[in-house]
Amino acid sequence: MARSSTHKRSWIGWVFFTDLWGGLRLTLRYMFSKTITHHYPDFEKWVPYPRHRGHHFIKTNDEGDVNCVACELCSKICPCDCITVIPFEDAKGNRRPEVFDIDLARCLYCGLCEDACPADAIKLGQEYEVSSTRSENLVVHLEDLIAAPRKSDNGGQVMAAKLVKDEAPKSVTTGTSDGFDWWERISRKE
Ligand code: SF4
Ligand code: SF4
Repeated sequence: MARSSTHKRSWIGWVFFTDLWGGLRLTLRYMFSKTITHHYPDFEKWVPYPRHRGHHFIKTNDEGDVNCVACELCSKICPCDCITVIPFEDAKGNRRPEVFDIDLARCLYCGLCEDACPADAIKLGQEYEVSSTRSENLVVHLEDLIAAPRKSDNGGQVMAAKLVKDEAPKSVTTGTSDGFDWWERISRKE
């Protein structure tokens, strides 16, 4: 019954081009919205939505061990061949990665590694500032992946930020205060 009603809805949507009208409504909303300028990177920074695919991170369990079982599925499915996993057996007899490297210079951020992982270990997080003038700096290791930012709780907001210029490479830190919703800021309703 539920399947039949979903099928009917999709059929009606196809006849009346509901996806097309939805897309046009979004385009018109952008056309008549206000223009705002982000003061990035000096004072503000966009925090992407949780669906954003940025710098990878590796999850750990309550005991501090990585979830990764070094099965190498992510490495095998990666279309860019940019993941290197070398397994070892830890003191508890678990298979873990001794080496887990990702070459971000080659990565497409397609998310296939995240989809393939059977242990819910590798994810693509919110971090997008991964540029470097040296390609070797873009090879990240297991410790970098464990420490990398997770998916954002406050995605879709613009947060107060500060550009740290005296570090190499320069970095942008976000404040802890609440940000503002970008959609609300560009709306002309107020
Ligand atoms: S996001 Fe895609 S290209 Fe990047 S490491 Fe994962 S599978 Fe490879
Ligand atoms: S991250 Fe997931 S898919 Fe990749 S080696 Fe570890 S357990 Fe296997």
